Amino acid sequence: LSKKATHERTRHYNSQLVLRTIYESGQISRAQIARVTRLTRPTVSDVVSDWMTQGLVEEVGLAPSGGGRRPILLSVVDNARYLIGLDLGREDFRGALINLRGVIQHRVNLPLMDGDGDAALALVYNLVDALMQSADSPLLGIGIGTPGLVDAENGIVYEAVNLNWHQIPLRHLLQERYNLPVYMANDCQAAAFGEYTFGSGDSSKDLVVIQVGWGVGAGIVHDGMLLHGNPYGAGEIGHISVVEPGELCQCGKSGCLETISNTRAILRQVRAAASALSVPLPVPPERLTFDMVQALFDGGDVAVRQVVQDVGRALGAAAAYLVGVLGGCRILIAGRVTGFGACLLDAIRTEVAQRTLPALAENTEIGFVSLGADIALRGTSALLLHHELGLF
Ligand SMILES: [Zn+2]
Repeated sequence: LSKKATHERTRHYNSQLVLRTIYESGQISRAQIARVTRLTRPTVSDVVSDWMTQGLVEEVGLAPSGGGRRPILLSVVDNARYLIGLDLGREDFRGALINLRGVIQHRVNLPLMDGDGDAALALVYNLVDALMQSADSPLLGIGIGTPGLVDAENGIVYEAVNLNWHQIPLRHLLQERYNLPVYMANDCQAAAFGEYTFGSGDSSKDLVVIQVGWGVGAGIVHDGMLLHGNPYGAGEIGHISVVEPGELCQCGKSGCLETISNTRAILRQVRAAASALSVPLPVPPERLTFDMVQALFDGGDVAVRQVVQDVGRALGAAAAYLVGVLGGCRILIAGRVTGFGACLLDAIRTEVAQRTLPALAENTEIGFVSLGADIALRGTSALLLHHELGLF
């Protein structure tokens, strides 16, 4: 490296270090920043003045008196930039403008209908266009959580079966069109990074978020780093075979986790159990909805409880593999199945305990995510903040 390049790299590093310090402390003085970061006072002042010029940092008042002159406190301006977050992993495409704290300021949802391929891509553009029109702060970039196999490094959706996307260079397309930095991850991976960054709980342990929806997938944060796979596929547990012989899966194999645990599979199993339900189905079986299943469960229906336990056992079987790889960790479930509460969690816990070493099972926490339906959206903003500003 040339001297100039080394100098620029150091400056960039210092710059991010100072911003991260201010971001994490909430309010802090220049002298405190120098102490925490071990940078010199002039360097800190220099870097802070840079961030102030860019509008990301402001002076917010004076610290309580410690005897001498009261130091000026600095803080990050939460709305100085907006991030565009997209969650394409649902039946509608969701987008939001998100501030530097990961708080959603404005949202747009567009129904996917039965659109796929180019129609789905056009919908992504519509979503970004609509969000850009509403942004009254400069934009930092676009973060995307999309279903399927996502090559995050090269910005390519390798394969998303439900959207009929194959090798779509999504990052390139969006960068060309909007001239903004773009970061991508699989939607379950984005959810995991969202929970890790903004969720509650012990973040020192490896985190697995298993998202149960249209599909079933996991995102893994190991040592504070989101695992993408090389180039993709980390956490792709939906097609681990958990029952034999099992139902035929969309992927061509049978007995996959998804054939038992995704929302369609849950509906199918409840339909199949219709004659055993405590009350007759309120609609013809083909019109059964997830809300109705939830209502039956809440009413204490034994047959529905049985289905939920089967779902939990299948999730637990797949989760046990992850415990075998990571060791003791936090496994948190996201998605509509969280409505099944302790009944689901107990089934998962029992199965994990049966399939792993006791010492690992005891050291593994199994629960629900602390963030709600916005988990993946907020995760995409965390990805952007991490890559663009060096936060987290
Ligand atoms: Zn499968």
